[in-house]
Amino acid sequence: MFRTVKGFHDIYGEDIEYWEKLEGALKKLYKTYGFKEFRLPVLEKTAVFNRGIGETTDIVEKEMFTFTDGDGESVSLRPEGTASLIRAYIENGLGNPPGVKKYCYMGNMFRRERPQKGRFRQFTQSGAEVLECESPLLDAEMITLLLDAAKAAGIEDFVRMEINSIGCPECRPAYRKKLTEYFSARREVLCSDCLRRLDKNPLRILDCKNEGCKRVSEDAPVILDYLCGECGSHFDSVKKYLEKLGTPYTVNSRMVRGLDYYVRTAYEMVTDKLGAASAVGAGGRYDGLVRLMGGGEIPGIGFAIGMDRVVSLMKEKERIAERKADVFIVFFSGKAEKIGLSLVKELRGAGITAEYDYDVASMKSQMKKANRSGARFTVILGENEIESGKAALKDMESGSQKECNLADLAETIKKSLV
Ligand code: ATP
Ligand code: MG
Repeated sequence: MFRTVKGFHDIYGEDIEYWEKLEGALKKLYKTYGFKEFRLPVLEKTAVFNRGIGETTDIVEKEMFTFTDGDGESVSLRPEGTASLIRAYIENGLGNPPGVKKYCYMGNMFRRERPQKGRFRQFTQSGAEVLECESPLLDAEMITLLLDAAKAAGIEDFVRMEINSIGCPECRPAYRKKLTEYFSARREVLCSDCLRRLDKNPLRILDCKNEGCKRVSEDAPVILDYLCGECGSHFDSVKKYLEKLGTPYTVNSRMVRGLDYYVRTAYEMVTDKLGAASAVGAGGRYDGLVRLMGGGEIPGIGFAIGMDRVVSLMKEKERIAERKADVFIVFFSGKAEKIGLSLVKELRGAGITAEYDYDVASMKSQMKKANRSGARFTVILGENEIESGKAALKDMESGSQKECNLADLAETIKKSLV
């Protein structure tokens, strides 16, 4: 027997109902905010991520599925969407003509992490990115949109929004120095990953999920005390606009994000319900990323929602049963088949989910299958009914049965389904 690759899983059955509901709600929501869908490839040249996400991030250091393509090129399954989207924006010349660009995407991402609750090697993100706008009002709107996404999924009671400013290349060096001093004096409690991070990227230590590292991080210097004037006032404006928009948030001065490209506003929508996998969606501003990837001086901001985690929360909130057929059609084999099958076709054409027995077995056996199928109605085409151009329509919930003209059947069923 074959099994899935570690960290990969099948999605089926009633889970599909939650996924469809979430996908539909997000697509609708993005549209109302003026976002255009972008479909990105799942495979990119590894350099896109090395450059875009950063060489010293967990993702690039140890989480990517990377292999050499037949022609000797190093390629990777995408671990996130932003770097790919920026690659696409530059490659396709989307900066011309200039103006605010809003893109959204939905798709599978791949990270070679240790699988656990809410953490898989193939997972699905839904993301939104806005380019060519520096206004703090946009930051406030993106944070609001992320919370609106939780509302659209019906899980707003389970999440809260945390925001921070992580400064810019102007203000970060002084902070980084202070942080290095602080953690260097406490080396003995750091995990082996963080000892490495200490030299290369000490901010990463604040993002470590190890208990010991989390504890020392609590008293570490905070970036907000080191923001330059411009970053400080940008952050103040973001908060002011969040208040104007009526979007609830708390400042978490210890939040940094796991990706190198962020500057200024960082935000995370978190939950207490998924153990260590607490972030349901997260994002930030990335003003230097387009230039870093070979494009112009273009500001940007975005977020990605972990849809698998949202689905887990939706399942706690609400039980959605697997969808059943609307009607099961029962008919005699032989001369009734033609009428039966054309009725199936007609009902499906009218948007009604119709099933029947492919074996066209005995009426008794077909009735059994209709019962087992869980269909809302059974349509019975017996000999008498066919003679008179009628069918029996049985309501499987109440058990009541009535005669109905074949010509009116689709209308009658549709009316009873709402
Ligand atoms: P975490 O801190 O949980 O590792 P992250 O900071 O690495 O998250 P991002 O890169 O910001 O995550 O991705 C955005 C969202 O994607 C996360 O908030 C989370 O909901 C989801 N996500 C990230 N990695 C995984 C994973 N391995 N499995 C499932 N969902 C994930
Ligand atoms: Mg991670």
